[in-house]
Amino acid sequence: MDILTCPDYQPTPALLKDRIILVTGAGDGIGRAASHSFAAHGATVILAGRTLPKLEAVYDGIMAAGGPEPTLYPVDLDGAGEADYQTLAGAIEEQFGALNGLLHNAGELGQRTPIANYKADTWEKVMKVNVTAQFLLTRALLPVMEKASDASILFTSSGVGRRGRAFWGAYAVSKFATEGLCQVLAQELEETTRVRANCINPGATRTRMRAAAYPGEDPRTLKTPEEIMPTYLFLMGPDSQGVSGKSFDAQPK
Ligand code: NDP
Repeated sequence: MDILTCPDYQPTPALLKDRIILVTGAGDGIGRAASHSFAAHGATVILAGRTLPKLEAVYDGIMAAGGPEPTLYPVDLDGAGEADYQTLAGAIEEQFGALNGLLHNAGELGQRTPIANYKADTWEKVMKVNVTAQFLLTRALLPVMEKASDASILFTSSGVGRRGRAFWGAYAVSKFATEGLCQVLAQELEETTRVRANCINPGATRTRMRAAAYPGEDPRTLKTPEEIMPTYLFLMGPDSQGVSGKSFDAQPK
């Protein structure tokens, strides 16, 4: 697999003007930074996540910065089903007419333990949140994305989703599946729609999940979510038109 990067990308200030973009896991970590960054570049962001006070804090921050008013969508990806996503798609169509962007960012780490000890219920939860919810959300939102003149789906991968590593269990397997879902979808969309689909691997980034995975690490040695935003902006905005089915690293080696 060829891994692409765009280290020197410089977004224009109004890159995402008038675009409607849904971000999952918008209340914390990379999703929070992406929501702020998309709004700062002109997008109306639909903030999806399971912890309402966190989503409200992001809403307040975007409003305080003078960005377009976001919309809140409280959802637990572990519990939501087909009907919930259909309702969401209907609401987006009614309110906005079309959807330009979908950032699948929310993720569960699960256990860091050998497969021999991995708990079945944790496995199922990680696969539900990291893979099945992305499939269901994508399927429900595709029709409203096809109504946009330009639309981008961005999946979040990981280094352990490209090469397996001991003790990463369902998380690694879910990220392999994410790369697969993205490739299958991108090929299907290629000839018939203006919707593109790509994967992004954030690389080691200073968030709660990273701290849980590497408790001994000094977080100050890591890039912040804000620092990795250029690749997210490139893939969400019109400059990546024609790029689909690709895997990007947000932090070039
Ligand atoms: P965080 O733990 O900081 O954020 C994860 C987000 O996902 C949170 O907003 C969390 O919500 C949300 N989330 C988790 N479970 C659910 C659920 N069941 N329903 C709805 N929302 C949920 O992690 P990161 O920002 O680091 O991770 C973002 C993405 O980047 C993930 O897909 C992760 O796998 C990937 N990644 C991160 C790397 C890193 O170094 N940080 C490296 C490689 C990949 P809440 O805040 O309410 O818990």
